[in-house]
Amino acid sequence: MSLSFDPDSLTLPVGHFIGDRLVAAEGMIPMKRPSDGKNYAGCPVADADVVDQAVQTAKSALKTSNWGGLRPRERLNLLHRWADLIEQEAETLARLEAISSTRPVGQLVSGDIAVSAEQIRFFAEFADKEGGELVPTDDGNLGMIMTEPYGVVGAITPWNFPINMAAWKLGPALAAGNAVVLKPSEMTPFSTLYLAELAVRAGIPAGLINIVLGDGMTTGNAITGHPDIAKVSFTGSTRAGSAIMENIARTGIKPMTLELGGKSPQIVFADADIEKAAAAVTASITSNAGQACVAGSRLIVEKNASARLIEAILKRMKTIVPGPTWDAASQYSPIISDRQRQRIDDIVTASVAAGAERLTGGSSMDLPGYFYAPTLLTGIDQTSPAVVEEIFGPVLTIQTFEEEEEAMALADHPSYGLAAGLFTSDLSRAIRLTRRLQAGTIWVNRYGRSRDHILPTGGYKQSGIGKDLGREAFQANRKSKSVLISL
Ligand code: NAD
Repeated sequence: MSLSFDPDSLTLPVGHFIGDRLVAAEGMIPMKRPSDGKNYAGCPVADADVVDQAVQTAKSALKTSNWGGLRPRERLNLLHRWADLIEQEAETLARLEAISSTRPVGQLVSGDIAVSAEQIRFFAEFADKEGGELVPTDDGNLGMIMTEPYGVVGAITPWNFPINMAAWKLGPALAAGNAVVLKPSEMTPFSTLYLAELAVRAGIPAGLINIVLGDGMTTGNAITGHPDIAKVSFTGSTRAGSAIMENIARTGIKPMTLELGGKSPQIVFADADIEKAAAAVTASITSNAGQACVAGSRLIVEKNASARLIEAILKRMKTIVPGPTWDAASQYSPIISDRQRQRIDDIVTASVAAGAERLTGGSSMDLPGYFYAPTLLTGIDQTSPAVVEEIFGPVLTIQTFEEEEEAMALADHPSYGLAAGLFTSDLSRAIRLTRRLQAGTIWVNRYGRSRDHILPTGGYKQSGIGKDLGREAFQANRKSKSVLISL
């Protein structure tokens, strides 16, 4: 059966998911489909009372199920069963996500959803392997570090990879013995609601996963400021991350993980495999139409290789197939909203006014919905808006260098440090520069994650605090207690 579907005949879940069911909801934010701009649904807004209901449900589920105190292998088995169901229900999940988001349905099933199920299993495996430790003390004492779940974790996710971002939050929190109250983006809530329903069907005790819908100001603030939310895990913009820190500081100190924005460089030396670099650079800025935190949006290329590289990138950009997210043949995504598309265009226009040259793109595409053409800007300096701002769209800036030091200076962004790419065949240089680049993830002769989920992800500078993925993400969902026993 084809994965393509008719968006007008899809039944959407309505309400918040609290306990074991969808509950009726009030207040509706109008929603438009990015692929054709049509109004099609409304997103409810959970106020402080609804958020409190979800938090109390989570607290009581933790108590009655003894989730954190179960034999760890039991938690692990239930999470594995949930991952199995996610795979079995991949087509339904994919449609619920594709209708509201920028993710093409074909890429969802084989990509985002398969990876999310795998990552949930990855986190589940820590449940019975990662614990406290005995520490060296003198003979008269026994010292140990015990670890325990926090209790109820508050999670907030963005719209750009909804299922995957939810898996990054729910997987480690649940494996570590917590319950979760999660708010997906108000633009893409449906697939996350269905994830919660599948968890209950898999046998995960009802109430451990609660999904409340709404915006940042009402629902987000109610989560981060709730006294019974013991820890906050957020992925989104640096601006919202900063507002969350402020709210937490005002309402009661609690630990937080913040995965924020980026403006990641890709540095290509002339000795690199230029075709391979072109493929990686193009994919990193056109995948999800550049709406990825780690989008490699700043190309920094050695001058004598720039013509070859640009030609190869232009060639690849021409073969990209745009189309609605509900068409299984679509490869290139729309922008999430008309407002965001306008913002991209404003930054491109301002950069051109400031002296940048447009090699391709720089305008909306002649299609229904909010498509924006892959865009290359050259002749650009460090102060250009397109180099400074996180555009979150398919816009690649190109800067050239002649000396390694110059490349390093261009790569260093004043506020972001999420990821960086480095392309060279000189191993010594690769290692030397990897040490110097100020980013939480460095990719050498490739760009983008593999399915090695053990590698954590997180930002330097204002790109974030703490890590998702890896052992760190599991550990960040448990608090530690130091114990010293006199013998
Ligand atoms: P956003 O910050 O506008 O919203 C993210 C989520 O936070 C949404 O659910 C939103 O409703 C909520 N929110 C907004 N303001 C809030 C507040 N004051 N309190 C609580 N919640 C609030 O981001 P977005 O537009 O949805 O996503 C794009 C951003 O996310 C980009 O900056 C991107 O780089 C970042 N991102 C980072 C990572 C990472 O791993 N570092 C991954 C994906 C996306």
